Amino acid sequence: MPSLMEDLTAVCGPERVSDKLVDRICYTRDCGPSPGGVPGYVVRPVSTEEVAGIVRAANRHKTPIFVWGRSTTFIGNGIREGCILMAMDLMRAIEKIDLERKLVVVQPGAVWHAVDVELNKLGWELGVPGPGGMFSCSIGGSVAYNAVPHGLAEYGMTGEHVAGLEVVLPTGDILHTGSGANETAGHPHFERYANGPDLTGLFIGSCGVFGIITKVYFRIRRIPEAEEFAFYGFEGVEQAVDAAQSIQQQEAATHLVGLFGGPKPAGYEQYDAFLHIVVRDSRLRAGERRRIAEAVCEAHGGHPLDSRATRRYWTEHMYSWLRNTPPDYYYGNRPYTCPEVAGFIPTQAVKDAIAYLRQDAVEHAEEFQRYDIRIKCYDVYFSRNGAFIWIDTLYPELDERSWRYGLALRERYTDELMRRYMSPGGILQALAPVVMPKLGAGFELMKALKRTLDPNFILNPGVLLMEPETTPQVTPEVIR
Ligand SMILES: Cc1cc2nc3c(=O)[nH]c(=O)nc-3n(C[C@H](O)[C@H](O)[C@H](O)COP(=O)(O)OP(=O)(O)OC[C@H]3O[C@@H](n4cnc5c(N)ncnc54)[C@H](O)[C@@H]3O)c2cc1C
Repeated sequence: MPSLMEDLTAVCGPERVSDKLVDRICYTRDCGPSPGGVPGYVVRPVSTEEVAGIVRAANRHKTPIFVWGRSTTFIGNGIREGCILMAMDLMRAIEKIDLERKLVVVQPGAVWHAVDVELNKLGWELGVPGPGGMFSCSIGGSVAYNAVPHGLAEYGMTGEHVAGLEVVLPTGDILHTGSGANETAGHPHFERYANGPDLTGLFIGSCGVFGIITKVYFRIRRIPEAEEFAFYGFEGVEQAVDAAQSIQQQEAATHLVGLFGGPKPAGYEQYDAFLHIVVRDSRLRAGERRRIAEAVCEAHGGHPLDSRATRRYWTEHMYSWLRNTPPDYYYGNRPYTCPEVAGFIPTQAVKDAIAYLRQDAVEHAEEFQRYDIRIKCYDVYFSRNGAFIWIDTLYPELDERSWRYGLALRERYTDELMRRYMSPGGILQALAPVVMPKLGAGFELMKALKRTLDPNFILNPGVLLMEPETTPQVTPEVIR
C-alpha cells in the first residue's frame, strides 16, 4: 500500500501537501491558551473532490484529520499530534452571488468581510456580518463552530442564515442538504427546510465532527437605508438589564451590547453598567426604533452618553471602541492571552451572573493579584430573547503559574454557570470534558451518530470529546 504521504500527494499534488516540520509547526493550536499538537501532514485542498479524496486516504491509513478554517477560536481546538491538518484557506472563492434567490454561494474558507465587501458593491450584504473576528475568520469555520455574530438582537445566530450546505461525510461521500438534496433537479439550493429532516442543522455547531463543509449557501439582504446609534450609562446592572429586556420586547435594536465588567468606557467611570444600541432599518423606522430604545433607557434611569464610539465600534467592527478607546490601550503591550468563557443565558439571569462574577473577583482578589489576572470584560450581546455573555480574563501567557490558574478559572466559571443556566455557543476540545457530560441524552445521540457516520473516528475526533471509546474493563468476580 502507498504511504499516507504518497496518497495525499496523489490527491493534491506535491505543492499543497507537506510533512516538513517548518510547515507543520505553524498549525498547532488556536488563539486560546490550551496546548495543541503538531500535525504530521498539512494539506490544502482546492475542491470538494480533493477534500473527499483526502478523507478516503485518511480512512485507509486510519489517521485523523483536523479541519482548519482560520483557527481563530479562543477555547483550545484540540489539534492532534501526528494528524492530517486540512487547511481550508485556498477554498475561499465566492462562487455565485444569486440576487434572485437572495443567496451567496461561498467556499468554506471565504473570510466574512471579504465576501461582504463584494456584496456591498451591489448594495447587498450578508445576513449577518460575522463574529467579531470577521476580518480574519472563515464562514465555514464559523458555521461549523456556531459563531455568535454581530447584529444578534435582530438577525439572530449565524446558522439561521444558512439556506443549505454541501458537506463531505467521513466516508468521503458528498451530501447536499435542504432543497439542494434533490439530485434529479441538479441540487437546487434555496430552502433549508425541505426534503425531510433539517440535515443542515446537524453540521452547524458540530465543529467538523460529522462532516467537512465544502460549500455554504448563505442568505443576503439589501443594505438597510439607515443606521442609528445610542449609548447609555446606568447606575446599576439591574436597571441596564431591565432596559435591555424592554428593548428586546419592543424589537428596538439590531445589535445591543451590555458592558458590565472590565475597564469602563473612557470618560464615563461614574457609571456601573452601559448599553450600546445599534439600529438598522429604513430611514423612517430606524429613527423611530432608536427613539423607542432611548425612551426605554431613560425610563430605567439611563443617562444618554456620546454615541460616536458606538458608531465607530459598529462601522469599524473594532471591539475596543465599545470602551471608547483605541486598541493599544485595551490590550497593553504584554503577551496576554484570554481563556474565554462564553454562553447563552436568560436575559434576567445576567443580573445573577454579574453579581456572581463580581463577588468571585472580590473573594479571589489576592489570587488575581498574585497571578496577574485581569478582567478584560463581562460583556453581553443581547439576542432576540436572551443574552450571550462573554467572560474574558487576561493573564500573562509566559508565566506558567498564571497560565495554569487561568485555565482552572475558565473551568470553574464554565462549570458553575452551566449548573445555573448557561449553554455555550461553540464547544471545542478544551472545554468538552466540562460541557459534554452535562448534555445527557443529547451527548449519547451525538456519540451514536459519530460511531455510525465515522466508525474510524477520522474527523476531528477529540473536538466534542468524541474519542473512540474503549471497551470498559470488567473485573471478573473471584469466587474463593
Ligand atoms: C478578534 C476576534 C473576535 C472574535 N469575536 C467573536 C465573536 O464575536 N463571536 C464568536 O462566536 N467568536 C468570536 N471569535 C472567535 C472565532 O473567530 C469565531 O468563532 C470564528 O467563527 C471561528 O472561525 P474560524 O474560521 O477561525 O474557524 P476555526 O477556528 O478554524 O474552526 C472552528 C471549528 O470548526 C471546524 N471547522 C473549520 N472549518 C470547517 C469546515 N469547513 N467544515 C467543518 N468543520 C470546520 C474546526 O475544525 C474547528 O473545530 C473571535 C475571534 C477573534 C480573533
